[in-house]
Amino acid sequence: MPGKTRQSHLPNVKAALLCGAPLSASKKKSLLALVDKALAQKVIHQRTAVGDYVCPRCGAAFISSPYGVEFDKTNYCGNCGQRLDWEECI
Ligand SMILES: [Zn+2]
Repeated sequence: MPGKTRQSHLPNVKAALLCGAPLSASKKKSLLALVDKALAQKVIHQRTAVGDYVCPRCGAAFISSPYGVEFDKTNYCGNCGQRLDWEECI
């Protein structure tokens, strides 16, 4: 699908960036940061004052219910924009 970067292609983009794409170091660094943000990272299960989960990138706490009620599992961190994977966090 031209013009669309699919999630499954991102690891290849990352590998290409890491092994010798002809870009300046700072450009590579910012592109890598974008790829890492677009690749879903698992949320960290950690007790905080407002809930049980924190962002794997910036450590922002996500608000969740202490009573097991379903809460909004946001797809992206509202603080840093990291894409989130909630698969193993039920
Ligand atoms: Zn974050």
